[in-house]
Amino acid sequence: MVNIIPVAKPDLSGKEGDYLAECIRSGWISSAGPFIQKFEQAFAEFCEVRYATSCSNGTVALHLALLALGIGKDDEVIVPDLTFAATANAVLFCGAQPVLADVDKETWNLNGTQVEKKISKRTRAIIPVHLYGNPCPMDEIMMIAKKYKLWVIEDCAESPGATYRGKKVGSIGHIGCFSFYGNKIITTGEGGMCVSSDKEVIDKINILKNHGMKPGQRYWHDIVGYNYRMTNMQAAVGLAQLERFSRFLGERNRIKEKYLQLLGKKSWILPQKTTMHAQSVPWLFSVMINLPQKTPAMVLAQFSKKNIEARRLFYPLHGMPPYQTADVFHNADYISDHGISLPTYIGMKDEDLHRICQALEE
Ligand SMILES: *Cc1c(COP(=O)(O)O)cnc(C)c1O
Repeated sequence: MVNIIPVAKPDLSGKEGDYLAECIRSGWISSAGPFIQKFEQAFAEFCEVRYATSCSNGTVALHLALLALGIGKDDEVIVPDLTFAATANAVLFCGAQPVLADVDKETWNLNGTQVEKKISKRTRAIIPVHLYGNPCPMDEIMMIAKKYKLWVIEDCAESPGATYRGKKVGSIGHIGCFSFYGNKIITTGEGGMCVSSDKEVIDKINILKNHGMKPGQRYWHDIVGYNYRMTNMQAAVGLAQLERFSRFLGERNRIKEKYLQLLGKKSWILPQKTTMHAQSVPWLFSVMINLPQKTPAMVLAQFSKKNIEARRLFYPLHGMPPYQTADVFHNADYISDHGISLPTYIGMKDEDLHRICQALEE
């Protein structure tokens, strides 16, 4: 039997099955039921914020956050050029303009200098993305936001549990948005969450995600809303995942340390650098390969022959049709052209890590 190493896989070995069975037994399988509130409460505590409200995925978490802050036509929102496309798509859903900023060459994230370059009279918000679990330099970003009176929505899809100056990501900006897609650090299959300590924002999101229906008056709609709710079944899985978060974090850190031990000293490997004052939570361990004539595509082809699944990094947004701009993004281009994400999941064995690093060396 060939032993295939996947790039990611969920660990559902806790109470996920029991909780799901409880949903089926009780009949609460839609977007009402006891697990929703339990998961939201546990998640708010986990993020050290007052409120958390669940939704159907990470993309709509971003959409809801932007809508709740009143972002719309003629507004500009600064997003990193190197991110998953959903960050910019959510801005476009609102009729606003995503303005791309280049990222830092070492942390692969937005920094204050890059953000400040892109501010205009129309800028209303910044969406820092904590890429691959590495927090952005939030001091710089919050300072600029304050100076220009901008909202900060943290895209924490890849970074639940990461901290900056001891604060959980998602609790530093005005709203934090999370994804629970199958390959993320905590999964509910599909799912998302908005967190904030601003009650007004959370109340607004609750209305928007529930068809715009007025609280306390069923079937009355003051605004056009969406059906962006999470189901009790998703929340059941999420709660079981969250119960084991500290184990997940320990395992992910162990995997990162092992990768660094095996690869860190090689001159042709450039790992993503953790931001100063930050504690990252390794999502997909990612590195740049700095060798002439060796592209990520070649590495992936070799890996595939050895039954190892890896990934290229995200393509810089500016190169794709919906996001094109005349600006240049040297760092995002360089990182994306040289980087790969290596398998990172709970239950990886040391021998798997050795096999991957051996294949990379070859
Ligand atoms: C996964 C991801 C999203 C979108 O989350 P979905 O749950 O897949 O909609 C948004 N931003 C980033 C950075 C992501 O990695």
